[in-house]
Amino acid sequence: MNAGHTDFSSTLHDQHGRWPRAESVEDFRRNLASVHARIAAACQRVGRDPAGVRLLPVSKTVDEGRIRLSYSAGCRLLGENKVQEAYRKWSAMADLADLRWSVIGHLQTNKAKLVAQFAAEFQALDSLRVAEALERRLQTEGRALDVFVQVNTSGETSKYGLPPDDVAAFLRALPTFSALRVRGFMTLALLSTDAVRVRQCFVRLRELRDRLRQEAPDGVGLDELSMGMSGDYEIAIEEGATIVRVGQAIYGARSTPDAYYWPSAGDEEPRS
Ligand SMILES: *Cc1c(COP(=O)(O)O)cnc(C)c1O
Repeated sequence: MNAGHTDFSSTLHDQHGRWPRAESVEDFRRNLASVHARIAAACQRVGRDPAGVRLLPVSKTVDEGRIRLSYSAGCRLLGENKVQEAYRKWSAMADLADLRWSVIGHLQTNKAKLVAQFAAEFQALDSLRVAEALERRLQTEGRALDVFVQVNTSGETSKYGLPPDDVAAFLRALPTFSALRVRGFMTLALLSTDAVRVRQCFVRLRELRDRLRQEAPDGVGLDELSMGMSGDYEIAIEEGATIVRVGQAIYGARSTPDAYYWPSAGDEEPRS
């Protein structure tokens, strides 16, 4: 079982090496049940309905065989950080017709074409150049895409995402992109064991959303807050997350260093 989260002054970001690796459908069922139970408990602490929190399993680095096991355990929408890795998996598992893919990592404009082809959702929109590239490719494909604006709530300069002060103007520019359906905000909190500082990131995202919701342009929805991962999703739920992106607590510890996925990972604190 995953380490219990009973010490609420600390996140589980130092537990990363310890998540047990799921190797069977049963393992996946058990890990998913455990995460769902923790989601429910976090909701109960703050009087929320668990139906208002969507669990997005994150399958980055996981091979096709184990992804298929997680599919058998019920996963139907999977998060991937790197576009090419996601595209490769989408192509290889096209036989699973109801398996959909959410791109949750930074996108370069030259890969917008791929995202427009296969993604069900894009959670890391942080520039007009990417919005333009996606719009053009989506028009060609005759598709629309759910998108989330990524906000940098940790203040780390090397992290992706818009500074909170730039988000209002960014939202005002989005209605011209008719193929992008804006659903809300996404953030990565500080990768720290200090629960107080991690919580501040989540509070910042919620407060920004609450403030901008009133002035959001027509067609720009800000209902969703995608925040929280294996080490901190319970805190994120207490602060209003509607989507939690959980990889290692479902699939098991990754051996690939997080720095491969996040530019600043590891800068902040020593990791075990
Ligand atoms: C990898 C990743 C996650 C999930 O992290 P885990 O520690 O595996 O739960 C969440 N969000 C993003 C953007 C990621 O790249």
